[in-house]
Amino acid sequence: MVSTLMTAGAIALASSTMLAEASEVGFGPTNPFYAPSTLPFHAPAFDKIKDSDYQPAIDAGIVQNLEEIRAIADNPAEPTFENTFVAMEKSGQLLTRVMGVFNGVSGANMDPALQKVQDVEAPKLAALSDAIYLNAKLFQRVSKIYEKRHLLHLDAESLRVVEYDHQQFVLAGALLSDVDKAKLKKLNEEEANLSTAFISKLLAAAKDSAYVTKDKAALAGLSDAQLAAAAETAKNREVEGWVLSLQNTTQQPGLQSLTDRATRQALFEDSWNRAERGGPDDTRDTIARLAQLRAEKTKLLGYPNYAAWKLVDQMAHTQEAALKFMNALVPAATAKAQGEAKDIQALIDAQHGGFKLEPWDWNFFAEQVRKAKYDLDEAQIRPYFELNNVLHNGVFYAAHMLYGINFKRRNDIPVYNPDVQVYEVTDADGKPLALWYCDYFKRDNKNGGAWMDEFVGQSKLLGTLPVVYNVANFGKPAEGEPALISHDDVTTMFHEFGHALNGIFADTEYPSLSGTNVPRDFVEFPSQFNEHWASYPAVFEHYAKNYKTGAPMPAELAEKIRKAKTFNQGYMLTELLAAAELDMQWHTLAPSEPLQNPDTFETEALTKTHLLLSTVPPRYRSSYFLHIWGNGYAAGYYAYLWCEMLDDDAFQWFEDHGGLTRANGDRFRRMVLSRGNTEDLAKMYAAWMGAEPRIEPMLKDRGLEPTAANK
Ligand SMILES: [Zn+2]
Repeated sequence: MVSTLMTAGAIALASSTMLAEASEVGFGPTNPFYAPSTLPFHAPAFDKIKDSDYQPAIDAGIVQNLEEIRAIADNPAEPTFENTFVAMEKSGQLLTRVMGVFNGVSGANMDPALQKVQDVEAPKLAALSDAIYLNAKLFQRVSKIYEKRHLLHLDAESLRVVEYDHQQFVLAGALLSDVDKAKLKKLNEEEANLSTAFISKLLAAAKDSAYVTKDKAALAGLSDAQLAAAAETAKNREVEGWVLSLQNTTQQPGLQSLTDRATRQALFEDSWNRAERGGPDDTRDTIARLAQLRAEKTKLLGYPNYAAWKLVDQMAHTQEAALKFMNALVPAATAKAQGEAKDIQALIDAQHGGFKLEPWDWNFFAEQVRKAKYDLDEAQIRPYFELNNVLHNGVFYAAHMLYGINFKRRNDIPVYNPDVQVYEVTDADGKPLALWYCDYFKRDNKNGGAWMDEFVGQSKLLGTLPVVYNVANFGKPAEGEPALISHDDVTTMFHEFGHALNGIFADTEYPSLSGTNVPRDFVEFPSQFNEHWASYPAVFEHYAKNYKTGAPMPAELAEKIRKAKTFNQGYMLTELLAAAELDMQWHTLAPSEPLQNPDTFETEALTKTHLLLSTVPPRYRSSYFLHIWGNGYAAGYYAYLWCEMLDDDAFQWFEDHGGLTRANGDRFRRMVLSRGNTEDLAKMYAAWMGAEPRIEPMLKDRGLEPTAANK
């Protein structure tokens, strides 16, 4: 995962009058954000920064940025690339400086004071984005330069800035008449309100739909820990018995182990119908209107449907390209899933089950297959994955072998928590490249999951080098004990470090195009690509050693880890594809279409895309698909699979060209990792690969057979 500072063209939730509240009160030279940090790489001065420093700095940063934008827009001089685009790239430095640090610390080390700052500042930041992208005078200057861009003798990166910025203005509605701008604003507000309503309805619906029982026998098969958690949830809700609360996906963790088939069916149906039970928390009316409204909004903006508007600045460019990609995966995925279903039915029959496989049975029997064939005993594996060893002899080693870079621990750079480590990254020739922080251990005040972001972004224009961090939630060992992590944790370290390399190698002029400032269907490519090196034999053997004896992991155990990767992949790819297709079908609705009935629509969409399998339901049903109705992934859920195509294809290229070599690494760094968003991503990828991305390596990696349709 990669988090971003601020989304360009973000939907404004607040009116611009709120900006007036931003003031510079309490902001002066004593504030540590007042000037760039004097530490190496302009690293944040965590030894000086107090919680109370953020709000005045953010407020002053907003005011400063608005003034800078106003000065650019009102400049009486004829618009030039320098006085418009370069000036915009140089604007907002105070705000960027403080927000980089604020986002980092509030995500990984939150406290009530920071929470308050976040609540107060979020609407002001949204309004700032509006004030830039809907500023008509500013857009006039941008347009004037855009029109004559080919006469200006701009270098390729400068030309990209002009075209990309112009596109962002247009996508946000800058070309509209004042009347249409007002309409758009209304639609944006309605969309934001419906999204918020969807989120709160879904929260309530999921809570109310939890599986509740007073009969302990119904829960046979759950572990003691799962039972204790279910009893605890019941206690907190003041109900008798046990409560299995729902997680976001269709399938639920309990379905793996519950032996009572009736309980499995009940739990599954609670999940499946959670937001379709009538009453105030039914989400169907909300999503039907959201889909319709998004189509209306993009009609106003001149696009045939929402997906067409949303994908224009992505690597895929068009919904046709995304659909073509997904459609090509469907035959291989469903063929494999049907094979897996047959195996499970055979297992049910061998156990004299006497019933036909249903979705609520899948995970229960798949788990039996997994245990028999691929069971990975964590206690057996962990001694080979000691965190510091994985970091130095795995993550750093792979990066050194590929790119020649070196890492030196810096104990003199202040940190926001004692668990944080800082390294200086130097290039093969010894030149300083970046600072990299890691904050790996779980804390109560840290967000869940793992992510990468930057305290300082790279830019030649601003003279800055990257200051990048990785955050995760690994279990912290007791004082003096080694941190023995799971195989998943190892993968996470390589993944987040792949994002970090995208930031560390950034070598661009303009900050807005630098590092991980790339489209959603590209941003997970460098990170997922880097995961491949975790299991690459020469790297794996270099780090997977017993922390006590130094002995390598036994071959049989290593083989089990490798094999487990292809388990159940027919099911997993099919449920992802079904969700991604649902997303795309909802968002290719024409503006002329009437309000849809979500259930009919869903069945038709899955039938049309050959994904209506009785035993493999979509990973999310339309009525509880939070990503697309509440979390900004509308017409974007395909991006996960798209990036997987890229990373498997890219890794196949490395394998075909000698694998882990400096020549391969340097070429990839020069042509892809260092370039951010400085060229159209599809062109950049094709130039590096010498061809369009192929889906065959992805199918192979998941253990799927290409079908006739893929050949
Ligand atoms: Zn990621």
